[in-house]
Amino acid sequence: MKRFDAIIIGTGQAGPSLAARFAAAGQTVAIIERHKFGGTCVNTGCIPTKTLVASAYAAHVARRGAEYGFDINGDVRVDMKRVKARKDAVSGRSNKGVEEWLQGTKNCTVIQGHARFQSSNTVAVNDEVLQADKIYINVGGRASVPEMPGIHDVPFFNNSSMMEVDFLPEHLVIVGGSYIGLEFGQMYRRFGSEVTIVEMGPRLSGREDEDVSQAVREILEAEGIQIRLNAKCISLAKRDGGVAVHTECEEGPPDVIGTHVLLAVGRIPNTSDLGLDKAGVATDQRGYIIVDDQLQTNVPGIWALGDCNGRGAFTHTSYNDYEIVADNLFNADHRRVSDRIQAYALYIDPPLGRCGMTDSEIRKSGRAALVAKYPMSRVSRAFEKGETQGFIKICVDAETKQILGAAILGVGGDEVIHVLLDVMYAKAPYTVIERAMHIHPTVSEYLPTILSKLEPFV
Ligand SMILES: Cc1cc2nc3c(=O)[nH]c(=O)nc-3n(C[C@H](O)[C@H](O)[C@H](O)COP(=O)(O)OP(=O)(O)OC[C@H]3O[C@@H](n4cnc5c(N)ncnc54)[C@H](O)[C@@H]3O)c2cc1C
Repeated sequence: MKRFDAIIIGTGQAGPSLAARFAAAGQTVAIIERHKFGGTCVNTGCIPTKTLVASAYAAHVARRGAEYGFDINGDVRVDMKRVKARKDAVSGRSNKGVEEWLQGTKNCTVIQGHARFQSSNTVAVNDEVLQADKIYINVGGRASVPEMPGIHDVPFFNNSSMMEVDFLPEHLVIVGGSYIGLEFGQMYRRFGSEVTIVEMGPRLSGREDEDVSQAVREILEAEGIQIRLNAKCISLAKRDGGVAVHTECEEGPPDVIGTHVLLAVGRIPNTSDLGLDKAGVATDQRGYIIVDDQLQTNVPGIWALGDCNGRGAFTHTSYNDYEIVADNLFNADHRRVSDRIQAYALYIDPPLGRCGMTDSEIRKSGRAALVAKYPMSRVSRAFEKGETQGFIKICVDAETKQILGAAILGVGGDEVIHVLLDVMYAKAPYTVIERAMHIHPTVSEYLPTILSKLEPFV
């Protein structure tokens, strides 16, 4: 049995930084990875998809060349082999970077293999048993495959297998109209595929406010993406050399026939094959590891970080989990998950940047609020760039003047949202933004103008 001060399972967005922190403190740490270093974000999530989004954006702008005053001889045609090669290079660089970083870290032992608990302080991997008083689980999640009729009869992609695609699907049918489905949908449309998005709910990105969902729908439809909402009882079958996705929608024909299908219907945690029962670690009904506000499980000495604890589903939430755990351990800084403010982006083009509460959450909270909404078409930077879709919406507390939440769907939305987010963390009133001098021409310079239009929230 090999003894370490700490064992970390998984090299996602929390594990490697935590390993480096232990090692820097002169403690011995073992980090175990069963597949690719860097986990989902690096290999099959954020980094490769945003690299693909960039290729799709370049093709889209090239097609609009005439609007900007240039011509391209002939059609803009995307070479998927080169698109994939670019994606592989960017993603591969990060994957290699994580591995080299860990391998080169003194006091850190890197083990490749599948880790399983044997008890609350021992983990088996390959033929070895490791022991530590502190164990950190950072095993992430994977695409879920719902038991819909016909699912075992047809080939389908998920976010991981899509990474191997180096050809243009003629007609890609995407089941699932949330973040992952929408990003792939717009990207493949811009690459040149016909795209249909089939969503069970009444609107796209159902967690967003209705006006956001509607604007997202309009952006995607304007590019020729077919959207089928309220698709109940989805089933799959082979048809005409492709796949028929049968839906019972309120509108449109019941079958959508495509050449390829991508399932983007949610994610599940990688916790069923970890031996959690041997350690006595509790999970909820969906398999997420139950943690407290400082990410400890019900078993003393075991923590869970990242997607597997169900407290976040983003790279930044996983990295923030690392910061919370590390600061509690090494800095006696009692940071908590409940201190963080919800923030994320949807990387369609233009992107959606979101922070804080949605309209319906504000309504539910019952507090007096003010709201201002402003179309991107009146933001001069957007106009100059020829990218005027979307809007900015900001909600503030009528009494404290603190920002409650915001949605920026528009050019630069994923960056501009941080102006509001940082003021929220500072617990400062929105009037601070009104009094600041901003740079012209930017989208951010409009925030004071928008805030001057606050009206009672209805
Ligand atoms: C298509 C897509 C796009 C995304 N885009 C974004 C985005 O733009 N922005 C954003 O913030 N988030 C995005 N996400 C979400 C983001 O990728 C995840 O939230 C993030 O990677 C979670 O990291 P993690 O630390 O929880 O674990 P992961 O990154 O999932 O890593 C877990 C690691 O643990 C390993 N592992 C699992 N079980 C074991 C075991 N038993 N033994 C050893 N190793 C094990 C796995 O192999 C994996 O390497 C996206 C996700 C997807 C699928």
